[in-house]
Amino acid sequence: MENEVCIFCKITKGEIPCYKVFEDNNFLAFLDITPKNKGHTLLIPKKHYRWVWEVEEDYSKVSNKIANALKKTFATDWVVSFVMGQDVPHAHIHFVPRFDETDGHGPLIDISKTVNLSKEEMEDIAKKIQDSLE
Ligand code: 5GP
Ligand code: ZN
Repeated sequence: MENEVCIFCKITKGEIPCYKVFEDNNFLAFLDITPKNKGHTLLIPKKHYRWVWEVEEDYSKVSNKIANALKKTFATDWVVSFVMGQDVPHAHIHFVPRFDETDGHGPLIDISKTVNLSKEEMEDIAKKIQDSLE
């Protein structure tokens, strides 16, 4: 069921812009607006579900596709993935690439930190991830 006030439903419908990374019939991936690291991507079902465990469409295959594109884009094997759902009540999985220990996070991704990226940098990152999709 589509939710009239849900911000991610609005993104799905194109009513709010996003830095789009990938789209198919059932899923949409776009950059998180407050990235924990370069390339922080959210993967959402187009249909409104409150929680990831309620999603009926195949999340696994498309998650693999996004993670692999991030690995390729940022030349890393480490894509930190997590589910919170504390803020936006529309199912989403976070994918945050780690590069090395010089990316400002120390040995682990610190989810209390964000990186500042310009509009141009966000556009450039989204394009690079799109180009890495297989
Ligand atoms: P969570 O619900 O998993 O706790 O957090 C929601 C995530 O969605 C946050 O990382 C936040 O930065 C991101 N977010 C919230 N509103 C928007 C938005 O309008 N556009 C984008 N691209 N990301 C958003
Ligand atoms: Zn929604």
